[in-house]
Amino acid sequence: MSQTPSAEAPPSSRDVHDILRPIRRVVAALMRSDALSHGDVDKALEQVTEVAAQVLRVKRASVWKLTEDQGAIECVNLFDTERGRHSKGTRIAGTEVPRYFAALRSALSIAAHDARTDERTSELSAKYLEPNGITSMLDAPVLLRGELVGIVCHEHVGPARKWHFWEELLASTLADFVAMVLGASEHLAQMSELAAYRTHLEDLVQERTKQLEHAEQRLRHIFETAPVALVLTRARDNVVLDANQRAAAMFERGVEELGGWTTVDFWVDPAEREGVLRMVADGGFAEGQAVRLRTAGGREFWGELSLRSMVLDSEACFLVGVRDISDQKALEERLRELATTDGLTGIHNRRHFFELAEAEVARVERYGGGLSAAMIDVDHFKQLNDEHGHAIGDEALRTLASAARRVLRRVDILARYGGEEFVVLFPETDLVSASRVVERLRAAVAAEPIPGTDARITVSAGAVSWRAGEQLDATLRRADAALYRAKAEGRNRVVVEE
Ligand code: GH3
Ligand code: MG
Ligand code: MG
Repeated sequence: MSQTPSAEAPPSSRDVHDILRPIRRVVAALMRSDALSHGDVDKALEQVTEVAAQVLRVKRASVWKLTEDQGAIECVNLFDTERGRHSKGTRIAGTEVPRYFAALRSALSIAAHDARTDERTSELSAKYLEPNGITSMLDAPVLLRGELVGIVCHEHVGPARKWHFWEELLASTLADFVAMVLGASEHLAQMSELAAYRTHLEDLVQERTKQLEHAEQRLRHIFETAPVALVLTRARDNVVLDANQRAAAMFERGVEELGGWTTVDFWVDPAEREGVLRMVADGGFAEGQAVRLRTAGGREFWGELSLRSMVLDSEACFLVGVRDISDQKALEERLRELATTDGLTGIHNRRHFFELAEAEVARVERYGGGLSAAMIDVDHFKQLNDEHGHAIGDEALRTLASAARRVLRRVDILARYGGEEFVVLFPETDLVSASRVVERLRAAVAAEPIPGTDARITVSAGAVSWRAGEQLDATLRRADAALYRAKAEGRNRVVVEE
């Protein structure tokens, strides 16, 4: 090491050339380092300290970083040539070595021949220099954008050593290289932060997508397994956007041909459709509406509709739930029939007769137009029962009812009033016309044999017309009185009360 030119005697230009050549080579090699171009900061620092130790022939070469608060320096890489090992982590606080820090801040290199006595470095003696056997130090400040960010430190162990100007130059060059490495690392940290953020975002998006997919699958599952037929329609053109299997089956449609579906085809009665849509327009939903619907095959059925308006993908839509209530409707119909019909003859029963007749009386009271009534009773019916049996008696009552149906108009209200007693109300009919019809009825019954026998029955009847302001039972009582007279006058006849 003593072969190098001394700092006092300036070297000749040839000497300088010889000195600089290997330095240039080393620095050029560092610049081409893969570690630097790959942004591998630790690796690049290892290369710097090894090169520094080699070209400056020191036992230890290290790179230190000024901490963020600038209150301390921390060793980020130290190469010990004897051990052939890198280490890091030593920290020296500025408060412990104020002169040394002041010297570093001057941004000039510190070439301490005898580090233990040099006023810039003597503060390091007890804690750092002596324990490590360091006698001479050559420190070059690492400046990044003009700011001190660290040091490259060359530590000589052995007899104190004088530092040559070219060694200082080399130390500064290495420091510049470290500045580049640290600059790159800052950039790299930002890049990796960005990359990490991007990865985080991608993870989030992926997670969200998964959640959405999951939610969609769950909704689809609910949609498909719902115990009602569900149809999603677009409000503006009634096109079916979606429907579950149950709906497809209910309307006898394939789910795949949904696009061509419009709900208008579902409805039997356009007025019912308008009614439900008005309800939705007013309140946003319609609940449990019984309407008549039609399948693709033209089969009509009763459906209970619940309809809710909603906005999906900025489109006004309706979610429609449909339950087939045809069975329920049939049952209701049957119950109503049972409640209003006479079981034996199939005509109205007495209770239902009064419902219909009261409505007729109300109508005629309001609008006028005439109303007539007749009471009809089978003649000697007891005798028929006695001679032919009760079953034939029943058959006779059915025969009477069907003969009456044939003779009467649809608007006439025929009912079984009691055992073998019948009543007819003739809306908008005067007494002359009504009595003519009753007479035809009497004749028809008399002409009709009772199936299964050669027996026939006759009836007596009393006909009256409604008087303005009269109660229905009063009218019927007068008809009954006329009937009584018909019986008294010999039966099988019609008495018309004038
Ligand atoms: P009249 O000419 O005076 O009316 O004589 P009638 O025998 O018809 O009169 P009555 O009131 O004495 O008898 C009515 C009979 O009708 C008595 C009852 O057994 C019978 N009857 C009432 N309801 C039914 C029924 O649903 N089926 C049958 N087979 N007979 C009935
Ligand atoms: Mg009777
Ligand atoms: Mg009788």
